[in-house]
Amino acid sequence: MPGFELFGAEEKKEVQDVLDNGVLMRYGFDGNRNGHYKALELEKDFASKMQTKHAQVVSSGTAALTVALASAGIGAGDEVIMPTFTFVASFEAILSVGAVPVLCDIDDTLTLNPKAVESTITSKTKAVMPVHMCGSMADLKALKNICEKHNLLLVEDACQAIGGTYEGKPLGSYGDIGCFSFDYVKTITCGEGGALITNSDSYADNAHKYQDHGHDHIGSDRGAETHPFLGYNYRLSELNAAVGIAQLRKLDHTIKLQKRNYTILREALQEIPEISFRRVPESGVESYAFLNIFLPSATTAKKGHTVLGAHQVDACFYWFDNNWHYYKKWEHLLEQKSLGKLSIEQQDGLIKNRRSFPDSDIWMGRTISCLIKVGWSEEQVKERASKMVEALQSVFQKNTVS
Ligand SMILES: *Cc1c(COP(=O)(O)O)cnc(C)c1O
Repeated sequence: MPGFELFGAEEKKEVQDVLDNGVLMRYGFDGNRNGHYKALELEKDFASKMQTKHAQVVSSGTAALTVALASAGIGAGDEVIMPTFTFVASFEAILSVGAVPVLCDIDDTLTLNPKAVESTITSKTKAVMPVHMCGSMADLKALKNICEKHNLLLVEDACQAIGGTYEGKPLGSYGDIGCFSFDYVKTITCGEGGALITNSDSYADNAHKYQDHGHDHIGSDRGAETHPFLGYNYRLSELNAAVGIAQLRKLDHTIKLQKRNYTILREALQEIPEISFRRVPESGVESYAFLNIFLPSATTAKKGHTVLGAHQVDACFYWFDNNWHYYKKWEHLLEQKSLGKLSIEQQDGLIKNRRSFPDSDIWMGRTISCLIKVGWSEEQVKERASKMVEALQSVFQKNTVS
């Protein structure tokens, strides 16, 4: 997944353009910038790549989620349904607009189970936020139907699945708004950064203003612009945007390499009858950022993860035990450890999350996710594949003996 593996001359050239004129900010200073508007250029390129009408770049993926929710008018006390398996950014963004993150079970797609979503909806629910974790997607069609039926916003978190598709459309472009991260470990990176995409003129217009203190961006005198509503600063700098432009051009190449490496590993692991693979919804195509496998039980998965480590197979994750990606370790959320006081609505709403999610535990307990790197040569991947097979087979051999 990491775009930093492909950092090189193209990125340096784009950054040099910015350094040569010294305008590090995306707005204003028109006379000094020698025609370079890197953030704007990245937005145009990104909207075109994602086949949406609009793209708004911002300072991070977390900012993209926050701006997405704010732009659609999600605010105090509104409930947003999100999965138990994601990165903490999901609930951070929801909380930061004053809303309440409501956790919901996942299924064998490793993201929101549509049936569980439907039973989580209340009169306060305003949005559903599926997270396309580890390179593959939620059952978007089912989720869209639910959202349409209940008049809810569908916000796709595609931070870990850029380059994947659903019904032939780029992930992130299927719902009302899609969000991406370009942080240092994502498929394309600009150091820190993110973007949201949408076909809605009004969400795009709101986002453009909101991420820049509410500036209306009318006229050429920034100081004379008015502020139609309250905003914030989630702007992306020209330096970061410059890196993003070069990285985006490499996206297809990156996905191709991920797919090659993923396929070699998957075909090798298919030889082990006890191993199965994460379900990819019909009409979905992964980004191949990770290979996600199921072992028969939590015990064998845990053992498998340990054995992989002992065989020097790095970058394999057992998310079930992870502090940042699974609800079991989010005691700061569940116990409401906030620096400042949370609103009464948030305090009341968050209590809902203090329950068990048995289906999530079953699927995550069985899951090992292996990061796919693009820098591996075919030889290296094959070597890795045989190490993985040897390691994982040993789990089951030991089982039959004991
Ligand atoms: C990385 C990530 C984010 C947040 O992105 P940042 O740019 O690090 O703020 C949000 N959601 C998911 C699923 C992510 O992996």
